[in-house]
Amino acid sequence: MRCAAAIEARQVNELAINVDPIQAGGRLTADAMKAVIAYGDGYSVCDNCRKPNRLDYIAKPPIAGFHKDLAAWLNMDAVRTVPGARRAFQAVAQTYVTKGDPVLLTSLSHYTEFLAVEEAGGIVREIPANPENIVTPDAAAAKAEEVKRDCGRAPVLAIIDHVDYQYGNMHDVKAIAKVLHQYDIPVLYNGAYTVGILPVDGKALGVDFVAGSGHKSMAAPAPSGVLAATAEREKEVFRTTSIFGDVTGRKFGIKEPAMMGCTLMGATLIGLMASFPRVKERVKHFDRELANNKIVLDALLSVTGTRVLSEMPRKHTLTRVDTTQSFDKVAQVHKKKGFFFSSALEEKGIVGIIPGASRVWKFNTYGTTEAQAKYLAQAFVDIARENNLPVT
Ligand SMILES: *Cc1c(COP(=O)(O)O)cnc(C)c1O
Repeated sequence: MRCAAAIEARQVNELAINVDPIQAGGRLTADAMKAVIAYGDGYSVCDNCRKPNRLDYIAKPPIAGFHKDLAAWLNMDAVRTVPGARRAFQAVAQTYVTKGDPVLLTSLSHYTEFLAVEEAGGIVREIPANPENIVTPDAAAAKAEEVKRDCGRAPVLAIIDHVDYQYGNMHDVKAIAKVLHQYDIPVLYNGAYTVGILPVDGKALGVDFVAGSGHKSMAAPAPSGVLAATAEREKEVFRTTSIFGDVTGRKFGIKEPAMMGCTLMGATLIGLMASFPRVKERVKHFDRELANNKIVLDALLSVTGTRVLSEMPRKHTLTRVDTTQSFDKVAQVHKKKGFFFSSALEEKGIVGIIPGASRVWKFNTYGTTEAQAKYLAQAFVDIARENNLPVT
């Protein structure tokens, strides 16, 4: 099957169980797929755009209502859709960071946070994670003090990942935000792995901003994401334009410069909206996801030598394991080297683990059914047995 001459139809999630860490939470719902087809045309959401001519005011389809619902769901005061969590970081960084300003990230931060700071001219100071790969409030306070000493002023912004992409560990953003607010540092909660996966309450967390990723965690097409703000910060990050042309004197009303006027259009936005009812429901059942993750992880750990590098017990389904003393022993002598592992999995209809990786790798069971989790568990055990690894 082909979309066009050189473009094959993609059937990954139809033909296999996909445990790719970054893809698990972004798989579209059937409703989002319909939205992609119906709203794929360019400015399709603009049919009924009326004054004051901004995306988040459009009533048909119900984009304005969606913005209200989304803000309420995150327990924040204002929200905009953006092309990915990274664009949320960028909008916030552009608002608070000027040349040479120190910004707090962590030693587990995603690269897009670094780029957002770089583009705004800031410098990055990382809060180091502890030996268990957890970022603590004490470490945040110590780093804020260190920055004050070195730079003569506090950091102008902090971006803290609730669940980091490396270990899938959960960090106490609430306590970290409390500490950083003592230095008047605005805190952006990076929910790329949590918004749309588990319940997120911005007010309870006490953060200034919540960023989420539509295509990673909200069953939405790429590029999509959300940026939510408190009433206090809303005026700053969602400020309206004041520029005008010198010849025409034109002004641009309520367009927001940090959002470049209108943000998500067409299939991305309507896909995000179409999945939203299902996403709101699924966050209430994250316990089931953790149970499925445990089924798979227990099986992996039954293969002698396998270690979990993520915190235990697991608080998120993204998990990092070390199989240097198990599956990699097979890779050492196998003609396919490390690729034996991914190809053995693929033969069993399992994809998403980096081809060639047999030492340290990540998987994400999010969205699997219990039957699929059991199948995954059995597959890992079977691959171990087929290759004469001891299983307890
Ligand atoms: C994936 C990820 C991002 C980037 O999200 P986009 O929506 O693709 O911009 C940012 N931070 C973390 C922690 C991530 O895992």
